[in-house]
Amino acid sequence: MDTNANAIENRVFYPSEEVVKNANATPELYEEAKKDRLGFWDRMAKELVTWFEPYDKVLDDSNPPFYKWFTNGKLNVSYNCVDRHAKSEKRNKAAICYESEIGKKVVLTYGQLYREVNMFASALSKLGVKKGDRVCLYMPMIPEAAIAMLACTRIGAPHSIVFGGFSSDSLRDRINDAKAKLVITADGNFRRGTPFPLKKNADEALKETPTVEKVVVVKNAGNEVEMVEGRDVWYHDIMATADTYYEPEKMDAEDMLFILYTSGSTGKPKGVVHTTGGYLVQTQATLKYVFDLKETDVYWCTADIGWITGHSYVVYAPLALGMTTFMYDGTIDYPDKDRMWDMAERWGVNVFYTAPTAIRTFMKWGTEYPKKHDLSQIRLLGTVGEPINPEAWMWYYENIGGGRCPIMDTWWQTETGAFMITPLPITPLKPGTATVPFPGIEVDVVDENKQPTDRGYLVVKSPWPSMLRTIYGDDQRYIDQYWKRFGDYYFAGDGAKRDEMGYIWVTGRVDDVLNVSGHRLGTAEIESALVECAEVAEAAVIGKKHDVKGESVCAFVILKDGFEGTPELVEKLRKHVGVKIGPIARPDDIIFTAALPKTRSGKIMRRLLRDIAEGRALGDITTLADPGAMQEIAAKYAGKE
Ligand code: ATP
Ligand code: MG
Repeated sequence: MDTNANAIENRVFYPSEEVVKNANATPELYEEAKKDRLGFWDRMAKELVTWFEPYDKVLDDSNPPFYKWFTNGKLNVSYNCVDRHAKSEKRNKAAICYESEIGKKVVLTYGQLYREVNMFASALSKLGVKKGDRVCLYMPMIPEAAIAMLACTRIGAPHSIVFGGFSSDSLRDRINDAKAKLVITADGNFRRGTPFPLKKNADEALKETPTVEKVVVVKNAGNEVEMVEGRDVWYHDIMATADTYYEPEKMDAEDMLFILYTSGSTGKPKGVVHTTGGYLVQTQATLKYVFDLKETDVYWCTADIGWITGHSYVVYAPLALGMTTFMYDGTIDYPDKDRMWDMAERWGVNVFYTAPTAIRTFMKWGTEYPKKHDLSQIRLLGTVGEPINPEAWMWYYENIGGGRCPIMDTWWQTETGAFMITPLPITPLKPGTATVPFPGIEVDVVDENKQPTDRGYLVVKSPWPSMLRTIYGDDQRYIDQYWKRFGDYYFAGDGAKRDEMGYIWVTGRVDDVLNVSGHRLGTAEIESALVECAEVAEAAVIGKKHDVKGESVCAFVILKDGFEGTPELVEKLRKHVGVKIGPIARPDDIIFTAALPKTRSGKIMRRLLRDIAEGRALGDITTLADPGAMQEIAAKYAGKE
């Protein structure tokens, strides 16, 4: 039986003539990269990066999977992000625009950013930070976070950013894994109007972190904090005595730029290692051609700097390209549910990039909130983090994009560093698919035997510049995790299918795939079918052990405001999935719930739902956005049985 015949979206949205005419990208990019992949990356590296010393080779693949890019090239990331613009006609252009939840606003020009980054690099160096030392950041989304990242790269000290919402235990484990010498944090930041005690959490973690010598604290929320004598210093104090110039370190293209621990949707966090040259090349190339940034744009990526999206597309790529990047520190519904659109209007945002989880939330709240604001200056939209349900795509397209903005659905990972599968603004779009690989990227969908197929495992067939280089301190885990399964193909851990246009649809994580009576079903497909129903805001689907079928489909559903979970609705939803995908996909159980377990970056953690459905004790929930939600779901589930 063909279970997915109806599941592929057939709506196609062609880019307008205007978009195509003005796009940075042309179809020739694909041709060029196809003819000579390394030649394409060579051109990108020469055009987008200022090198202190040229590289001798684009790719060294002599020791797979330990690939090297732009070998022996010398560069500095902060020089590329700041110096070269501060010394040009862009000196007085806004580099970073910032607004806090309580309405504080800051604009830093490239000239000002240059000064701040130099001074903080000088201050860090006076505290003993040297090239190669690891520095841990536990910070809110404030300009000082970007300054700190850039100052680290100026010295050549790899940073490890731990999301400011993580617990002290998560922070402690990550500090210890990276053996960080210094921690940068803040007194606190505002969440729904009340200060969140960041420094207090950090102090808790720092009780068990033997490698940490110094802690720098930014005064941000103004709440009381305890400063530990000899260990803690205020940011403003050390800045007051810092030098205004710090010579940028000449880094090798393959020197470590940062470590970033993945969110842990699927298990123990991995310290993903990124290096300097290839990362700076691919992040810039993708931002330039996919998000089509122009000199006069205000660009807003809503990701926190604690995630890879915040690293690559809030800080490094936009600044390296000399663009204006907007940062917001706060919740999306404070003081009201139109906060995001209010800021987009006031700051004149032209390009807006967010995650499906946020879009589904906006959708649940209703269209009256975006309607209150003039969003006509928005030109282009983006999404990342999960497969986007076609209904959420349509909502975003119509209500935020006004039916005129292309949506760039970007598939990539912490490990890939930059976009891998993504449309360009010139690409015909279909709601729910990230479409095709970026020029110079080779991906495929393969079966267990590494043979191309239309439904199977998503792999990357050849190395790419911004790829991870290893798992910090654990080369073997790097090999086991990503290269064992398919040899020289990188195994992404996601399932995918390919449609008749050659477009790639991510169907969910391989670990989450359901196997019902021998039929493999992706979570994304069933969830998208459920979200199509007018009553449903969000859905998470899992496979629950079943004596006969192997697994049965179990769906956790959040309804839109104003709807009730009646037995009739259960029947309606089951029927709809049956019609849309096939009788085999019809959920046996539908549980209505008010919340779903999500990582702090908004991804649904299905393994926890499986634990509930199969009656196991809950695994690690420390990285959950709302651990309390799990208790509620467990109670609901128990009540149902
Ligand atoms: P961990 O690997 O520790 O479980 P994580 O995978 O949640 O963490 P990320 O690297 O942030 O951490 O997420 C990458 C994953 O997010 C991808 O492998 C994919 O499953 C999903 N993803 C990201 N963007 C898209 C997209 N545009 N379409 C579909 N899935 C996406
Ligand atoms: Mg992952």
